[in-house]
Amino acid sequence: MSAFSISSPFDGGNVEVVDASDPANVRLRIRRDAGGRFLQWFYFRVSGARGVPLVLHLENASEASYAGGFRGYSAVASTDRERWLRVPTSYDGRALTIRATPGADAIWFAYFAPYSLERHADRLARWQRDPRVRVEVLGRTLDGQDLDLLTMGEGARAIWILARQHPGETMAQFFVEGLLERLLDDDDPVALGLLERATFRVVPNMNPDGSRRGHLRTNAVGTNLNRAWLEPSMDASPEVFVVRERMHLTGVDLCVDVHGDEELPHNFAAGPEGVPSFSPRQAELLARFRAAYAEASPDFSSDAGYPPTAAGEANLRLCTNYVAETFGCLAVTLEQPFKDVARHPRPLTGWSPERAAHLGRAALDVLARIADDLR
Ligand code: ZN
Repeated sequence: MSAFSISSPFDGGNVEVVDASDPANVRLRIRRDAGGRFLQWFYFRVSGARGVPLVLHLENASEASYAGGFRGYSAVASTDRERWLRVPTSYDGRALTIRATPGADAIWFAYFAPYSLERHADRLARWQRDPRVRVEVLGRTLDGQDLDLLTMGEGARAIWILARQHPGETMAQFFVEGLLERLLDDDDPVALGLLERATFRVVPNMNPDGSRRGHLRTNAVGTNLNRAWLEPSMDASPEVFVVRERMHLTGVDLCVDVHGDEELPHNFAAGPEGVPSFSPRQAELLARFRAAYAEASPDFSSDAGYPPTAAGEANLRLCTNYVAETFGCLAVTLEQPFKDVARHPRPLTGWSPERAAHLGRAALDVLARIADDLR
């Protein structure tokens, strides 16, 4: 019988052990992101618990950035690190309590299925074997990691796809993986047509440091990158600085910034309605984007989401608003749930990497319909 233990000093890991002496009453805390403001993402391994009924309390869950998101939420667990299943979880307004009886010696628990930097590198290596793909390091993060840009396509339209400005929103990178797999499928006529009409620039992981450190929302020095677009700096937000700089060179005809939402059980697109120069043309493109997506995937809701920001009230520090205002184009923040989806729920997995990838693939049907009208 191996010793019962809990650990998290690995890529994306996040938990503090208060007391693990009793498997039926394990006391844990979620570590705060750098900067001290945010917490919610957790990811840890429990060892030596085969057949042992575990009761795990995340005692500071009520201090989480979106504590309300823990209501109606179930954590994910995996013993093979490939398939992540939902496990019984409850939130009493203070602690988040997870219950499981592992069928294996080691089991991993997380807020959502993790997407590691090794997986990021593996996919990058696979995709660059396609001669149509260029991989480029746009710059270095504050922890010294590479910020990768993938470029593909020959067309005039400049389409940018970003994911994981908020590193804990791993579903965003699963979405991008699905999108890229389809875009590079040379048997797919929708993909072939799009690559003729547009040039795609994709940053699959905008925040490698926060990803590796197990953060919910910030980079290595505590910057919320999706509030840094108006005045990025190489000291506090180099990730945004270098991407924004490249955008100004290439121009932007469409930017899809992919995220996850802790509370809402829907997939939806938030638009730039509140930017000062929001035009009827942008409004029409936004409506067409949403309608086309709802047709392309039943997982997308054209009528769910945040109430639109009032005219002129948009926060230009957000990517979507900054890009829409600066380039006069369509820009959207695409949100997916951490929980299960309200429509076609699947309690065993909840919203999952597989469904995120499907939603990413469906994005190409949307782009195919609007690409010619983006500029
Ligand atoms: Zn986000």
